[in-house]
Amino acid sequence: MDKSRRNILKFGGLSLAMIPVVAFAAKNDGMRTSTKYKETPEGDKSCANCAQFVPGKTPKDLGGCKAYAGDTEVSPTGYCIIWAKK
Ligand code: SF4
Repeated sequence: MDKSRRNILKFGGLSLAMIPVVAFAAKNDGMRTSTKYKETPEGDKSCANCAQFVPGKTPKDLGGCKAYAGDTEVSPTGYCIIWAKK
């Protein structure tokens, strides 16, 4: 196999490997705006201790919110006005 063909396959594979990261990262901007979402807690209230939070792989990872359809970038240290005690 010649070198240029090998590079096309190598970088083509790399590009394909990056698609899931881009495709699955999403924000529900409409819900974030309407519920006044912010990346910082409100006193002792945060997404991490909200009943709506769907945790990421570790406690520090971004997660989801049951109220934010399709949003995969909710911060455990975030907060919004529909916070509900877990
Ligand atoms: S409802 Fe608001 S505070 Fe609760 S997890 Fe979702 S974004 Fe965070």
